[in-house]
Amino acid sequence: MKTTRSSIRVIALLLLVLALPSFLCAQSRPAADLIIRNAKIWTVDKNRPTAEAVAVLGERIVAVGSSAEIEAWQSVHTRVIDAAGKLLLPGFNDSHVHFVDGGLALDSVELNDATSAEEFARRIGERARRTPKGEWISGGDWDETKWTPARMPTKELIDSVTPDTPVFVSRYDGHMALANSVTLRLAGITSKTPDPPGGVIVRDAQGNPTGALKDAAMDYVYKIEPPLTHEQRLKAVKRALAHAASLGVTSVQHMNPEYADVAVYHELLQRGELTARIYAAPLITGVDDQVKIGVRHAFGDPFLRIGALKAYADGSLGSATAYFFEPFSNQPDNHGLLSDEMHPVSLMQDRMMRADAAGLQICTHAIGDQGITIILDIYSEIVKAHGESNRRFRIEHAQHMAAKDFERFAQLHVIASVQPYHAIDDGRWAEERIGHDRASRAYAFRTFLNHGVRLAFGTDWNVAPLNPMLTVYAAVTRATLDGKNPNGWFPEQKLTLPETIEAYTMGSAYAEFQENEKGSITPGKLADMVLLNDDIFAIDPAKIREVKVVMTIVGGKTVWDATDKKGH
Ligand SMILES: [Zn+2]
Repeated sequence: MKTTRSSIRVIALLLLVLALPSFLCAQSRPAADLIIRNAKIWTVDKNRPTAEAVAVLGERIVAVGSSAEIEAWQSVHTRVIDAAGKLLLPGFNDSHVHFVDGGLALDSVELNDATSAEEFARRIGERARRTPKGEWISGGDWDETKWTPARMPTKELIDSVTPDTPVFVSRYDGHMALANSVTLRLAGITSKTPDPPGGVIVRDAQGNPTGALKDAAMDYVYKIEPPLTHEQRLKAVKRALAHAASLGVTSVQHMNPEYADVAVYHELLQRGELTARIYAAPLITGVDDQVKIGVRHAFGDPFLRIGALKAYADGSLGSATAYFFEPFSNQPDNHGLLSDEMHPVSLMQDRMMRADAAGLQICTHAIGDQGITIILDIYSEIVKAHGESNRRFRIEHAQHMAAKDFERFAQLHVIASVQPYHAIDDGRWAEERIGHDRASRAYAFRTFLNHGVRLAFGTDWNVAPLNPMLTVYAAVTRATLDGKNPNGWFPEQKLTLPETIEAYTMGSAYAEFQENEKGSITPGKLADMVLLNDDIFAIDPAKIREVKVVMTIVGGKTVWDATDKKGH
């Protein structure tokens, strides 16, 4: 008995000595907190495009490799996820969202899929019956192009069903909204009210307001609409965060937040409840606020950064307020509107000069070709005045390019922050409004890449759905929503899947100065990843829009797990 025991001891010792090199090696690094193994990983890292497994320590990725290689990082304390061969991507970074509006829209009256004016009115009436006295009906995201027959809504449609409720429902593009008579009265808008610079009060043949207000004219109402309470804002952000997590969106760049939105983000950050990383770009009209603080671009925490400004050059194509050189093909007297921030253009240039001098990043909404040209002119003046630097100018939307401007875009290193979903949505009717030639340079993602312009992908949520699968689908198929272009609307502008994913991850990270922190599954980067239920590289591209998110991981923590939700 004794001898046997001691021989076992000897054998054990021998085995230990033999195993020593690998034992020492395993001890030289801490064990991973999380390992995802048996995955098909598309890393978006050119040094290692594909892998099977990833190890995470704390909030960061520590190793990427084969399942066998990554096993060395495992201990009894490691949470191991077997991905069962599913596709793992870096988390999606939406470079252009209106996050609080999006959260509010999830709870607001749903008008976007109404198919007639009657249905639009019925839904508003129904909401009015459930709305407590004194509260407003807003949001809605209506789209009259989906109605049969398509026509611009007027207050008469909804007045009878909303006799006491103020209504101010927005068109889905955010550049027009419809007020009922209660709201027009509260805002003091009559036939005598002048159109403000950068805005239009739509009027009937007698000159009376129809209730539709475009761009800066909407401010007449915003001025008197009661502001969100802190509770309403908090609730909207939480709704938006949960929605983003369920869709694999791990970072968002919030365009024109109110300062109160940023305060809510910070509150949630301190409570450990931010489940998406946020870069906030308040309106440039408040440029001096950020200049005074002295922070520069991308200042802050991995979960919350500031240091960018959002400007507006013009309106939108859908509202016929995008600023073009030539008139709209179907409106010979209208070539669009410059925004109120551009009256005069020198006002915009002064603000941008101050922003750039302070090291703040500038993100400018510009949709029409002339709107884009003017902004590129200003950007070029800024470079002349302040010299070359790593400032990463952005143009948001960059929708309808003049042929001469692609080259300038590249020379000025301007990032095209674009939304492919708009292409398959607006592509239904864009050609009627701007003609074939201009449409050939619309949403021209391939042409941008050919000129060496960097793309950042986003959705403009809540103007378009936040779901990245719809955006990926749009970029690779360009199949318009009406089914009329199954092989792609201007198919020469389609992108490949790797190009699309890169624009949506690394491209967006670059657009917020975070390409060394996120955007790819690379050791050292933040562990933001998304596991999909289907392999978008293997399936028919037409099916990409049906793909769902199985799991979303932000900073190594699971913020969405589809299997958890089953049966709830
Ligand atoms: Zn937007």
